[in-house]
Amino acid sequence: MAAAMICGKEEKVLGVQKAPGSCPYCGGGVAATEVEAKWVLCFLPLCLTNKRRFSCTACSRRLVSYPAIVHD
Ligand SMILES: [Zn+2]
Repeated sequence: MAAAMICGKEEKVLGVQKAPGSCPYCGGGVAATEVEAKWVLCFLPLCLTNKRRFSCTACSRRLVSYPAIVHD
């Protein structure tokens, strides 16, 4: 078995969109970053999830508690 084992998590940024609302800290614009996360256990891709991350475009804070007001 000479193949490299990859264990861990891969994340790929799919795109950034402008989200409605404003930053609770500085009132700046909010950007929603679409991230594709893939958990890889050795050779087996375990799961693939898409999620959104919100961050402020003005102060660059991660808005972890930003309400999920954007629905597809
Ligand atoms: Zn801000």
